[in-house]
Amino acid sequence: MSAAQTGSSAVRVRLAPSPTGTLHIGTARTAVFNWLFARHQGGKFLLRIEDTDRERSKPEYTDNILEGLRWLGLDWDEEPVIQSARIDIHREAIQGLLDSGHAYRCYATEAELTAMRELQAATKQAPRYDNRHRNLTPEQQAAFIAEGREATVRFRIDDGATITWNDLVRGPMRWAGADLGGDMVIARRAPADQIGDPLYNLVVVIDDAAMAITHVIRGEDHIANTAKQLLLYAALGAEVPVFAHTPLILNQEGKKLSKRDGVTSIGDFQAMGYAAEALANYMTLLGWSPPEGMDERFTLEQAAAVFGFERVNKAGARFDWDKLNWLNGQVLHGQGPAALRDQLQPLWTAKGWGGAAPNPMHADGAWQADLCELIGPSLTLLADGVEQAEPFFTCPPLNEAAQAQLASDGAQPALAALLAKLNDGPLDSDQAQLLLGEAATAAGVKKGVIMKSLRAALLGSLQGPDLLATWLLLHRSGEDRARIQRSL
Ligand code: GLU
Repeated sequence: MSAAQTGSSAVRVRLAPSPTGTLHIGTARTAVFNWLFARHQGGKFLLRIEDTDRERSKPEYTDNILEGLRWLGLDWDEEPVIQSARIDIHREAIQGLLDSGHAYRCYATEAELTAMRELQAATKQAPRYDNRHRNLTPEQQAAFIAEGREATVRFRIDDGATITWNDLVRGPMRWAGADLGGDMVIARRAPADQIGDPLYNLVVVIDDAAMAITHVIRGEDHIANTAKQLLLYAALGAEVPVFAHTPLILNQEGKKLSKRDGVTSIGDFQAMGYAAEALANYMTLLGWSPPEGMDERFTLEQAAAVFGFERVNKAGARFDWDKLNWLNGQVLHGQGPAALRDQLQPLWTAKGWGGAAPNPMHADGAWQADLCELIGPSLTLLADGVEQAEPFFTCPPLNEAAQAQLASDGAQPALAALLAKLNDGPLDSDQAQLLLGEAATAAGVKKGVIMKSLRAALLGSLQGPDLLATWLLLHRSGEDRARIQRSL
């Protein structure tokens, strides 16, 4: 019985990102599924940084990936394994495969391989390595070496092999050795007495075995790799993990989500104002559906309590902005004003708002929390909290509708009457209501006129949150009288 079936606490899963770019939504979603499974099983979630592509890997991408995972709330259990530090172990394993005859040196030049592929294309054959150097005699090898040829190392793939596994998402899987493209390169081209840089399929198997990974959970674009890797597990005599291949994330057109779709990096979503909790919630729904009776809005912990692969879909998951926005609104609305303020503060600071100068009240925690309570219910994105807070931190210009309102019948006398009755002393909502009534009576206008005009004067617009609460906030920061004065 496999670990998956027994629910053993020895479950160990990993995310193995390549630091050749910022944290991508596909990688993050894979991380979510790994994390949920580990937490559900009481196992360990590990990281391995696959930085063996020396040209494209950058430390700043590693930092970005780790920061993004942390931001999403996906904590890991051991120090991340750095793949490049293990290259000697990978080379030793390759030497072992050469020694045991599972691998051999291939001296074919790039030009020869290109000619081979062109011929295959011309004769409508599938591209594959034709195993031409699989059985070289010692004399043939010596001749190539004497020519000064370099060599790759190739792992033998028996065309007649049948590779099977029971995928936690896709069920029984079956691959023919003949469909794997011929003997696979496991070490890059190098002088024939050396072993070149070890390649992905080999190192991933060595490292997963060394890390005692019990379940490999990754995107379905790795299915063909899994078939190849299973042959390597067998050749190396390593224990085979359970595999789960998660569906791809698709764009609105049903194609694989790519850079061309614009926003794909977790940092982009963060910059757009999505809350980590909403994004993590949404990514979980990209391929998994909660059990009957459970809301679509949940925390990672709540999902972890019930997560299993039996509810992961085989079909690709279409990215749905409306649902993400809805979830984000739910998360924002569910937070208390103080929590919302803590998240908005950095965005406000970036705008130069919320400091003690020029207005000390702008830096007041209670005033800021009240501002968040006022604007919170209408936010979809965190960034909306920048736009909506703006008229509370800076005096807004009067837009056309506001100007028209202020020029309309009764507006000026009504605001003048209100200003005459308004001082800088404390003001509560009952007093504010009373003042509005008195000013309307004094100016001989309906209460609606004065309310609309006051909104125009305070916010420079006829749209905005609750008027009374808006006024009280601006009164506390000592800005209401000046704004009314300006519109007279
Ligand atoms: N570095 C590989 C990737 O980012 C890891 C794939 C795997 O999980 O084995 O695609």
